[in-house]
Amino acid sequence: MQTEQIVSSLLESNTFVAKKSGECLIVDAGATPDQVAQKVGNDKVMGLLLTHGHYDHCFYALEITKKFGCKIFASKKIVENLTDPAKNYGETFKIEDFSNFVFLEDKQEFSLGEFEISATLLPGHSKCSMGYLIDGTFFAGDVLFGQGIGRTDLYGGDKHEMLQSLITIQNNIAFDILASGHGEMSTAEKQKRNLNLFIRFLSR
Ligand SMILES: [Zn+2]
Repeated sequence: MQTEQIVSSLLESNTFVAKKSGECLIVDAGATPDQVAQKVGNDKVMGLLLTHGHYDHCFYALEITKKFGCKIFASKKIVENLTDPAKNYGETFKIEDFSNFVFLEDKQEFSLGEFEISATLLPGHSKCSMGYLIDGTFFAGDVLFGQGIGRTDLYGGDKHEMLQSLITIQNNIAFDILASGHGEMSTAEKQKRNLNLFIRFLSR
């Protein structure tokens, strides 16, 4: 699997296009449909996975999935954020039509075309934070970054849940590559050390 990164103009959030055997998955929707189309090329889009309901990760979700004719996958808890701009931080942004959504449970495993996806609910930055492990690449949203962890002071954020989620990542998610919601991609090797540090920091 090859992962292409797009840095959006919305708080520099990342949108990823993961490609394999002529198919692709899109992770998050801060990039415009045209930006995404450039990375998709001639591949068949199998779905859009949302990591959480902040506007910088969801803004173009409906437009992107309309353009490519695919479904949106996310935790059901995302509805609360997406229906209320005060909870997704998008000023007037909201989504009210969920007919194109497929809601995922914690620890749900499913496949889309050639892609085997393992979804894990990882609250702490947001109640609806979902991480996706696909072919050794972990799409972590704003829970874990190459150089830090996500904020816990926004709506639905919780320091203790963040601690539990980091422990879950450390113990249960066997990734090689980290693809976070902001910043550059990282490796498991670097994150082993970071996770210990962050867990100790939050456990004080
Ligand atoms: Zn966020």
